[in-house]
Amino acid sequence: MLVADRSIAFEERLKGEGLRLARKSPSVLQVNLGKLCNLACVHCHVNAGPGRKEIMSEETVDRVVDWIARSPSIDTIDLTGGAPEMNPGFREFILKVRAIRPEVTIIDRCNLTILLEPGYETLAEFLALHRVKVVASMPCYQPENVNLQRGEGVFDGSIEALKRLNALGYGKDSGLVLNLVYNPIGAVLPPNQKELEFDYKEALRAEFGIEFDRLFTITNMPIARFLTQLRREGKADSYNQLLVENFNPASIDGLMCCDTVSVDWEGRVFDCDFNQMLGLPLGRVENRFLWELESEGLENEAIAMGNHCYGCTAGAGSSCGGALDG
Ligand code: SF4
Ligand code: SF4
Repeated sequence: MLVADRSIAFEERLKGEGLRLARKSPSVLQVNLGKLCNLACVHCHVNAGPGRKEIMSEETVDRVVDWIARSPSIDTIDLTGGAPEMNPGFREFILKVRAIRPEVTIIDRCNLTILLEPGYETLAEFLALHRVKVVASMPCYQPENVNLQRGEGVFDGSIEALKRLNALGYGKDSGLVLNLVYNPIGAVLPPNQKELEFDYKEALRAEFGIEFDRLFTITNMPIARFLTQLRREGKADSYNQLLVENFNPASIDGLMCCDTVSVDWEGRVFDCDFNQMLGLPLGRVENRFLWELESEGLENEAIAMGNHCYGCTAGAGSSCGGALDG
């Protein structure tokens, strides 16, 4: 069944600028392993938290792995959640992918504090052993801002986890990649990515002796928990206006929906994690499962856009890999 078009304004803006979002052959499979998380951050677009029950089952994991095996265009598996590591099949998933496609890049989107939770003591070593790239949330290098957004004590836990990763070689030119993710505290656009990365590197090295590879700046998407916060503060309209006013045509080519397939905990396909949370399926066709599709056939599928897409195209642009323009 086709889902109603909620995207006129953004699409019209693209047309007006002579631009088009075109899907390429997918190279990234982003897998949402579930909404369970040990944190409950105020900006979370997944509404994730300790009480969530949605978790990808072992059977679905196997079907996803089978699909990866027969999809040679996929060179990156991006594991997200929730805290993806809290899925009981997390390690098995990685082992199975490594067995069938040893060369692919596997990314763990890690909130850092999970590495310190009871039962996860060997997680960092596991990630290092299987060459999993860590992309870790770290919204500031100052404790007040991190704790405000992610919860009391999260800053100290994040620092301890980063030290643990550094001790294993992560972020130290050893081939084990450690990237950090910044998103603004509140209803503003991220600052310049390169300059902020420099500040982060200086501050984390001087204060804690911590090293990392890259910093990605990501714009807060006005959906889910962050939208609730904006509404509570009476800032939803002005934030949306900010995104529209800062539309940047140069961001279009790098948008993640052009080369990514996003799959939810039940195996349904979406153009990106944001559309997944909004229930806006890939190509606006509901209830299609990853294993029903061929990766080559996805090249010509339409991308389901909405006005939330302004969140990816404002300022320097924003994607899972950070800023898109400069
Ligand atoms: S933002 Fe990340 S760490 Fe925070 S609640 Fe959401 S999934 Fe968990
Ligand atoms: S939210 Fe961003 S990634 Fe998703 S479809 Fe819109 S522009 Fe693409």
